[in-house]
Amino acid sequence: MPEAAPAPAPSSIDMEALSQKKPEDTTFSELGIIPQLSEACEKLKFKHPTEIQKESIPWALEGRDIIGLAQTGSGKTAAFALPIIQKLWDNPQAFFACVMAPTRELAYQIAETFEALGSIIGVRCAVVVGGMDMMTQSIALSKRPHIIVCTPGRLQDHLENTKGFNLRTLKYLVMDEADRLLDMDFGPKIDQILKVIPRERNTFLFSATMTTKVAKLQRASLSKPVKVEVATKYSTVKSLLQYYMFFPLAQKDWYLVYLLNELAGNSTIIFTRTCNDTQKIAYMLRNLGMGAVCLHGQMQQKQRLGALNHFKAGSKNILVATDVASRGLDIPSVDIVINYDAPISSKDYIHRVGRTARAGRSGKSITFVTQYDVELIQRIEKDLGRKLDEFPNVDKNDVMLLQERVSDAQRMATLEMKEKGGPRGSKRGRRDGDDDGADREEKIGLPVKKGKRGGNRR
Ligand code: AMP
Repeated sequence: MPEAAPAPAPSSIDMEALSQKKPEDTTFSELGIIPQLSEACEKLKFKHPTEIQKESIPWALEGRDIIGLAQTGSGKTAAFALPIIQKLWDNPQAFFACVMAPTRELAYQIAETFEALGSIIGVRCAVVVGGMDMMTQSIALSKRPHIIVCTPGRLQDHLENTKGFNLRTLKYLVMDEADRLLDMDFGPKIDQILKVIPRERNTFLFSATMTTKVAKLQRASLSKPVKVEVATKYSTVKSLLQYYMFFPLAQKDWYLVYLLNELAGNSTIIFTRTCNDTQKIAYMLRNLGMGAVCLHGQMQQKQRLGALNHFKAGSKNILVATDVASRGLDIPSVDIVINYDAPISSKDYIHRVGRTARAGRSGKSITFVTQYDVELIQRIEKDLGRKLDEFPNVDKNDVMLLQERVSDAQRMATLEMKEKGGPRGSKRGRRDGDDDGADREEKIGLPVKKGKRGGNRR
């Protein structure tokens, strides 16, 4: 690694004066970022720091632990990646930082950001997530990367089973989407990992929806953290238009197809609650000639990444997904988010709709509300502190005209599900389910109403 230019002493930064400035009047170097990294930011077209970067980077460079709360799409990844890369530049070593994320796709995305920002100094990352070959990952770890980006289950697996691998020299631990990582699904794995990494380290927790309950945070063993909040717990960006559509449950697919026809040409993510529905809706839309791919926790990891890449590249413009795609994924081109099934919590709502209107762009979210979702939506509206608007100009006659075509496409989709097997029905059958949102998809189904669609939730 080339020799570093000395960074300005962070304590020389006048935090008071900095806090008076707007992000657009601030530069990365004013935050203490070295010229080489400021240049890397410029190359990525980061002209100025975002709010979360402005508020957290100086503290991180000063060696403080951070709890960062910022809206999704607000530049959180660079907020933790830049100070880590800068410190790595000062003190190059293997296994310098470990970044944990709750989903595998988010882990790959974080590694891309580290590599893009750190290319100038040759930062090497290894991505260690479930669903991918252990042996290939062991080889990557044996090459002693600077940064490990992982999902907790697979990291723990390597810590226990990969000969010669340990994190005893780790300097930084980051938990992205920390509230999710510190919850009950991941908590025990994280506890195991924390036992085998040094206590003398820096810890950064970032999320868009962190309820900083002391007990939860204690799990991450923070030492005198600085809490940087540039969003309220349930805030969404101004450039996001948020709508609802209300109709009877039985007509859900008619309205979905109507809406997709109305919004044809837009890049759209449709969120559903179960793997089964995700798969079935994707088949149905394809039967209607639409370019749809699906993403859920019971697909093999290679298929998941393949679907995501088709969607990112624009060769398919509809992604039907469970909440495994709701957190952190940065696909700037997403125009529309449709909540086909209402999210079960305000947190999930914030994360889902945050897949659009990113980095200053505009976007729309449309939440489907049936007779069974009214209470859920009212709770979300209360947390958001605003009412959703009704989606305008819906022509109900046009919706009804779709009935026959949609029924045919549904029938064919059901047959395809039978022929191809559909998502595996039980956890026992899963080969790649050692961590991430896949587990949660198994648990979040609401009580099933007898005789209604979705009875076979998993
Ligand atoms: P994140 O919240 O980390 O997922 O980032 C959201 C998007 O903002 C990504 O596409 C980043 O490349 C972009 N981004 C991050 N920092 C900046 C910045 N300072 N200026 C402009 N775009 C940024």
